[in-house]
Amino acid sequence: MSGLVLPSIESLVPYEGGKPIDELARELGVTDAIKLASNENPLGPSPLALEAARARLADVHLYPDGAAYALREKLAHVHGVSMHEVIQGNGSNELLDLVVRTFATPEHHIVFAEPAFVVYRIAALSCGVPFTAVPLTQLTHDLEAMAAAVTPKTRVLFVANPNNPTGTHVGRAAVERLLESVPPEVIIVMDEAYFEYADAPDYPDSMTLRSRRERLLVVRTFSKIHGLAGLRVGYAIGPRTLIDYMNRVRAPFNVSALAQAAASAALDDTEHVSRSRAHNLQERARLTAELTALGVSVAPSQANFVLADVRRPARPVYDALLRRGVIVRPFANLPTSLRITVGTARENARLVEALREVLR
Ligand SMILES: *Cc1c(COP(=O)(O)O)cnc(C)c1O
Repeated sequence: MSGLVLPSIESLVPYEGGKPIDELARELGVTDAIKLASNENPLGPSPLALEAARARLADVHLYPDGAAYALREKLAHVHGVSMHEVIQGNGSNELLDLVVRTFATPEHHIVFAEPAFVVYRIAALSCGVPFTAVPLTQLTHDLEAMAAAVTPKTRVLFVANPNNPTGTHVGRAAVERLLESVPPEVIIVMDEAYFEYADAPDYPDSMTLRSRRERLLVVRTFSKIHGLAGLRVGYAIGPRTLIDYMNRVRAPFNVSALAQAAASAALDDTEHVSRSRAHNLQERARLTAELTALGVSVAPSQANFVLADVRRPARPVYDALLRRGVIVRPFANLPTSLRITVGTARENARLVEALREVLR
């Protein structure tokens, strides 16, 4: 097929997410599987969000508001910014891709960490934009090495904080140095999908760092703590000039009417967010302790998942867990580790018991 697509697209392999429960049932006949593979909220969506989506169902013959006015207005209010500084996305995934498509070409360059969220790499490859993937040090973004990887051609630099799939974070001082040391032309994207789960005293809220740098985009999602992964909504906040260019490139009706309504209502359900956060803090600590007691090495996590190094090839462990009805997530570039989402207390207990058997 040479010549049909860019060589970088030829090199892509389709994204493989966490295995769906139905697929496991079809393949192995496992009927009571649990999924701890995609960092979804084990407490489910906010009831207020569900009710708002339901109320819109009868009107789905109408196109959604292409400007997502009500949702953006609420987000602007929540974050103390102007509506012109907010853009909605079909999941934050779309916005990460949109940044690359809007601002970078094959003549440019982008920087991200490795292993980090794989979407940055896919976005670069799909647009044929050269990139530098800077290795993590001790499973953590090395922001100095990333700053050093910036060239005169660099247009975008991505930081996932906390990082996926490691769960690790970078502290405020290091982020401030990055924002102030990288040349001003570069757009720095702080991907904060797990923002609400972080509790480290030095974890920085990038919204408070916007005065440090003009070209800063803060990206958040409704997929994680708000429990709306299936509806696909995220947003970015940044300077009006950047948001304006991204709006020219994005698809006109990129966020569905149901998703806009649900996301808007989810913002009002602060009780659901605080319950989800408290649950995660408690269960993340318990899961970490129990995995550590099994001899597994757990990276310090600020997210709703942990990266567990089982100190042997992880793929057979993953397969054995599947046969026991527990779906976790392996990564080719972390060959002895599994990413495990913090589930309900019962799900976590089942994972620990299954892993105890498998590692015996
Ligand atoms: C889950 C995740 C997202 C969110 O993806 P959506 O498209 O909003 O569902 C973004 N960034 C990182 C690092 C993630 O892990």
